[in-house]
Amino acid sequence: MDTIFNNTQVAFELKTDTELDRAYFLFKMIANEPLVRIGTAVTNFALKAHLPVETLIRATVFDHFCGGINELDCLKVVDNMYTKGVSSVLDYSVEGKEAEEQFDAALEMTLKTVEFAREKQAIPFAVFKPTGLGRLDLYTKIGEKQSLTLEEENEWKRVVARFELICKTAHTKDVALLIDGEESWMQDAADDLVEEMMRKYNKEKVIVFNTLQMYRWDRMDYLIALHERAIKENFYIGMKLVRGAYMEKEHKRAEENGYPTPICASKQATDDNYNAAVDYMMKHIDRMSIFAGTHNEESSYKLMQMQSLNGIAKNDSRIWFGQLYGMSDNISYNLAEHGYNVAKYLPFGPVRDVMPYLIRRAEENTSVAGQTSRELNLLKTERIRRKSSK
Ligand SMILES: Cc1cc2nc3c(=O)[nH]c(=O)nc-3n(C[C@H](O)[C@H](O)[C@H](O)COP(=O)(O)OP(=O)(O)OC[C@H]3O[C@@H](n4cnc5c(N)ncnc54)[C@H](O)[C@@H]3O)c2cc1C
Repeated sequence: MDTIFNNTQVAFELKTDTELDRAYFLFKMIANEPLVRIGTAVTNFALKAHLPVETLIRATVFDHFCGGINELDCLKVVDNMYTKGVSSVLDYSVEGKEAEEQFDAALEMTLKTVEFAREKQAIPFAVFKPTGLGRLDLYTKIGEKQSLTLEEENEWKRVVARFELICKTAHTKDVALLIDGEESWMQDAADDLVEEMMRKYNKEKVIVFNTLQMYRWDRMDYLIALHERAIKENFYIGMKLVRGAYMEKEHKRAEENGYPTPICASKQATDDNYNAAVDYMMKHIDRMSIFAGTHNEESSYKLMQMQSLNGIAKNDSRIWFGQLYGMSDNISYNLAEHGYNVAKYLPFGPVRDVMPYLIRRAEENTSVAGQTSRELNLLKTERIRRKSSK
């Protein structure tokens, strides 16, 4: 497909030749599945054994996919990307924690990023993960309407209070807030909570965004039903549209527990479902805002076309495109170059705590057909272009 996304000069303008070479070799390594599997095992072992591997991780995958070990580190990257019109979403990517102090630390960090977003035009959104604020098993119990112990009831009240404080602060400071989507078995409880926040804080416009994972075949019905409630109760809907990152886990749990998988029957069915959600939201854009979190060129192109067909300005504040830092720069920078709203998730956190995120990126780039070869081809094209223009 010949699209604006093929312009590698725009895509990699911020990268020096050395950085371009580093990215090329990194993706070449990631493309090698056995290497990723062995590398992941060795890294996990080395971190557990407190071997000094953090420097090595930093110099390779970490610096490519993350903005730094804390929020202040990220600001240099934020400012640099913004010189090309690409915004940032500071993403505190510490995952898999289960203790109350850690949930409170994530709360504090999210509030800090809300403040950053208020102060800096280059940071248009704050973001958090529901399981950053509470235990996954607790969300699951609530979603499945299981009875809770008194202790769990109090624990849940604290989760609700954390959500409430972040959303209220975002509303007061007029900062848009993305809330990530996670495993389907915890998502019902999170959805109910986020909807409650939309009802409260999206009265005049969208502040709170939930996430729709369109690899789930039930999500169009969910969106339509939510829309009906939003009309009746007069609130706005913000949605980050993604395909979904937990497919293997979803299949595995469904099989183990003997229920039908919540995932669409094929990649094509997921793509069609994603497109249907884009169509629906664009048709009802008077009440909705879209954050299209995707590295899929066709999906991005489709949304651009819909904007043009419906006479909606490229930089309309209700429509954003989003990619992850270190991936699909050809989409991000070319969209920005053509005047669209685009923001990259910029993960940060201590190296060992960000490992689950990094491993997901490595595995995704190994397993997603076409993704790595596309990155490699683009990097190769740009290396050749630079050599021939010297
Ligand atoms: C800014 C941003 C924010 C994100 N936030 C979240 C989030 O909150 N929650 C979350 O879960 N993910 C999130 N993701 C990840 C996202 O869900 C995808 O995993 C990733 O972006 C790859 O999908 P894609 O749209 O880029 O395109 P593609 O590469 O075209 O699609 C790959 C995706 O298609 C689906 N798929 C692949 N094979 C099949 C199959 N056989 N059957 C059915 N479906 C299939 C899977 O979802 C797979 O990840 C985010 C991504 C971005 C860029």
